[in-house]
Amino acid sequence: MDCIFCKIAKGEITSHKVYEDEDVIAFHDLDPKAPTHVLIIPKKHIESAMDIDQHNSALIGRIYEVAVKLAVQLGLDKGFRIVNNCGEDGGQTVQHIHFHLLGGRSMAWPPG
Ligand code: 5GP
Ligand code: ZN
Repeated sequence: MDCIFCKIAKGEITSHKVYEDEDVIAFHDLDPKAPTHVLIIPKKHIESAMDIDQHNSALIGRIYEVAVKLAVQLGLDKGFRIVNNCGEDGGQTVQHIHFHLLGGRSMAWPPG
């Protein structure tokens, strides 16, 4: 399978990693949309939020735990945003589920 985030998870493509455990990896986004922009992904290939089910939802909870730990570690004490883009209208461009941790500036609402 030709999945860029699977390759990052396996270390076949280099990334600036900020966290790794058995199941989850986090790394800086290549094209940051905020002063802090980290992507948190499961190592296992899950295509999108549409594929979250009773078998893998605990992993998604773990990803949120990691995101919040990273937000604290990265000094996002004024707040942050966790974003999951799903599908075409959601703006998902990489078909391996990922959560954006964005911070370091005030965020607009609603998103464009
Ligand atoms: P999406 O638009 O699917 O929600 O987010 C995909 C994100 O992955 C984008 O913010 C994009 O900049 C980032 N991205 C795409 N390819 C790479 C890559 O090879 N390395 C890293 N670190 N980020 C990437
Ligand atoms: Zn993948």
